[in-house]
Amino acid sequence: MNTVQKEKLSSKKYKKEFITAFNGDDSGNLTPRQTPGMLYSKAIPTPVEKVTLLAWSEELAAQLGIEKPTDQKEIDVLGGKHIADTMYPYAACYAGHQFGNWAGQLGDGRAITLGEWETETSKSWELQLKGAGPTPYSRRADGRAVLRSSVREYLMSEAMHYLGVPTTRALSLVTTGEPVLRDMFYNGNAAYEPGAIVMRTAPSFLRFGNFEMLAARKELDNLQQLVNWTIDHYYPHIQDEDKVLNWFKEIVDRTAKLMVEWMRVGFVHGVMNTDNMSILGLTIDYGPYSFVDDYDPDFTPNTTDLPGRRYAFSKQPSIAYWNLGCLAGALAPLFPDTKKLVEVLETYKQVYWTNYYGMMGKKLGLDQVSGEDVQLIKELEQMLTAIKPDMTIFFQLLIDLPLEMADAAAVEEHFNTALYSELNEDEKDQLYTFVLKYTARINANSCTREASQELMRRTNPRFVLRNYLLHQAIEELEQGKDELFTKLQAAIKEPYSDKYDEFFQTRPEWASQKAGCSMLSCSS
Ligand code: AMP
Ligand code: MG
Repeated sequence: MNTVQKEKLSSKKYKKEFITAFNGDDSGNLTPRQTPGMLYSKAIPTPVEKVTLLAWSEELAAQLGIEKPTDQKEIDVLGGKHIADTMYPYAACYAGHQFGNWAGQLGDGRAITLGEWETETSKSWELQLKGAGPTPYSRRADGRAVLRSSVREYLMSEAMHYLGVPTTRALSLVTTGEPVLRDMFYNGNAAYEPGAIVMRTAPSFLRFGNFEMLAARKELDNLQQLVNWTIDHYYPHIQDEDKVLNWFKEIVDRTAKLMVEWMRVGFVHGVMNTDNMSILGLTIDYGPYSFVDDYDPDFTPNTTDLPGRRYAFSKQPSIAYWNLGCLAGALAPLFPDTKKLVEVLETYKQVYWTNYYGMMGKKLGLDQVSGEDVQLIKELEQMLTAIKPDMTIFFQLLIDLPLEMADAAAVEEHFNTALYSELNEDEKDQLYTFVLKYTARINANSCTREASQELMRRTNPRFVLRNYLLHQAIEELEQGKDELFTKLQAAIKEPYSDKYDEFFQTRPEWASQKAGCSMLSCSS
């Protein structure tokens, strides 16, 4: 990796394939408006007071061949204050379904793509600033981002990468030297917070919503062109005559597998609107997300989602399917009838469940997953829902479970550090019953216990970036201290090791009701 030739952000020759291929509004006018016929609008970042580098993703930069900025001009690129000659900053126009309702045109309201960075291996990565100022899609909002939400996106997208979950990446985090006004809980208590900007990157930030918008506007030529372009650029292996259908099938597969990954690590996105669904099957748009601490299928971290819990932990896979239905609806005008499209959509469940049980089998250290094992997994889920242990810690303790357990009390003792409250007799019983069945099943494995434990260690993270840790790191940063922030940047890179066991504990009591630790809003 060290042999990659590094280039500077300010002197790189950026590609502009997206804006070259499609109609856009090149006026540079930032007034909020509808932009029919346009797939993007030019949007120059609004310069900020002072760009200060707070974090830089060394490994990602090395992979892309980007030289770490040292002088102020280079750092200014990361804050949208200096635009390289060959950049063409734009905001993409997309629509979407939000909380189940059609929301019409949305678009990048505070994200600006600067250009496409081509690596030595001819792969292209969009470089995008989040929080660099208003665009025509900002509506009544300011196009800015606060330090709190920027730290959350920066750290969590990188954490997901190291967990092995498909995701957009974050290259840098800068502060802007400008305060940003936010009403964190939409309750009339607006306050100034420090402003910040993340430079994030992905092969493409295209969402289901980009396709939905063109279908809704009946711009079928644009729709067909965007579909072809997306396949050519990001799915070049799909070349047969049923191209669009096979492409949709691959999106179905990728999305199903992404959901399996979220369920594996206990990630709850919080805002699974169709404008937050990546066409590449990546985790995208980090807002009011959370890991599951105490196991609860109904857990949602998003205050806005509380009435219906539409985006709760266990509902994510079915919401992804619903969202794929919206995408299918958008693609339907490209087909003579919807029969085949619906057939492909309907493969989602099978892909999801096959992969889900395969994944759960690995979490449990099973050599294979039979019909009986599926039953065991269902019993595990019921038991976890009843006793609500810490999800991450429970699975870690399961790895080292002695295969001979004397009685229910010994079992409870073994899982004690994962528990948030004392178990009643019935709960103790459920846990014990599960452990008896589980140990019998482990004894029936055809592989060694060590091999099974090794599989579990690879599948179950030991360190997850819990919201209370983020909250503490952000509070410290706001006071000018970066000790915890620095430590978390290191810890996220080794989620499967015990190196950061200082964080191996249940969410502390103080964090369970505290704003920003248990509940979050979209306000960022
Ligand atoms: P999100 O809930 O973050 O996915 O955002 C939904 C829509 O609101 C997107 O079009 C965003 O670009 C836009 N948006 C969110 N926050 C802001 C902001 N501070 N300024 C401008 N637009 C925003
Ligand atoms: Mg979004």
